[in-house]
Amino acid sequence: MIQNIPKPKDYENVGFECLVQAYKNINQIDNGQLIPDVPREEIWQYNTIVLKTSIVLIHQGIEALLKSKISRKSPLLLLEQKRSDWKTLPNSDDIDFTDMYTISGEDLIRTFFATLNEDEIDNNFRTHFENVRVIRNKIVHGIGNDEIEPEEVLKLILWTFTYLNGKGSFWRALQDKFYDHPGHLVGDSELEFEEVQQYIHLDYLEALLGKGELNNHFEIDLKSRRYYCPECTGQDGILVQKDQEGNVVNVDPHPTSKWAFLQPNKSDSTNVFCLVCQNTFEVERIDCKGEEKKACKGNVLYLEEEADIDEDTGEVFEEEVKLCLTCMDIQKKK
Ligand SMILES: [Zn+2]
Ligand SMILES: [Zn+2]
Repeated sequence: MIQNIPKPKDYENVGFECLVQAYKNINQIDNGQLIPDVPREEIWQYNTIVLKTSIVLIHQGIEALLKSKISRKSPLLLLEQKRSDWKTLPNSDDIDFTDMYTISGEDLIRTFFATLNEDEIDNNFRTHFENVRVIRNKIVHGIGNDEIEPEEVLKLILWTFTYLNGKGSFWRALQDKFYDHPGHLVGDSELEFEEVQQYIHLDYLEALLGKGELNNHFEIDLKSRRYYCPECTGQDGILVQKDQEGNVVNVDPHPTSKWAFLQPNKSDSTNVFCLVCQNTFEVERIDCKGEEKKACKGNVLYLEEEADIDEDTGEVFEEEVKLCLTCMDIQKKK
């Protein structure tokens, strides 16, 4: 008997781990090592090895995901050994799957395509994988000294997810990795797995790759109108920016970027979905009556209960307020 035959999920987990780690390695340099007055380019030249290891991880991740897809049909297709060597007849000894040779390289890709249903995978995936394979081989064998840009590697990671597991799979895998962290919910926003940090990831990717490129990898249309999230916008408090003389130039809730979207994206839609906290909020479609100077044309308002204290009696009462998700103006019921 062949023991411990792996499941598609086992390979998928390995693949996602490799790809998420490849991403995090790059992100950590850009968010942890950049300093004013030193060009980013030089920081990256110093850290070329990070990009190289990311490429190796991407290649490993793709192979694991191909194995995952093949195992949906049967993990036995991954075995390299001749069937005459299989210990599967009655009364034969047991053998562990991991002790048997499995296919790789060209055999793996051919088996993968053989198990696919028609139109299951984008035609460009073949070129994508070939591209990763060639760069990876150069790195592993120490030949060629082609420069790699962090943006290029980030795109390879995102496209691997999108080709093999569909739009949205990169973000889901990254979020799972955050929420699985044993320290999650400790509540320190500096920690890499807290929600505030996810705003940093989205802002980072958008700034680096552009909205158009990033949009290829999300189910939600990132080009549609965006809103603040009633739940997680500003949950980290207030960010005060000062100029060099120490004068306050800007006071903003933090995080403050907009990653919530109408769902569905229609003019009469009454739901807003947040990519970060993954909550859906019911909203009213009425015009914002915010201060005129803001000239807000928003018409997506969130009804919120707010505790208030009567100044004369000290009595606490609940008050309904409406929060404009376009300008964050709070509108009390008159
Ligand atoms: Zn949210
Ligand atoms: Zn408004």
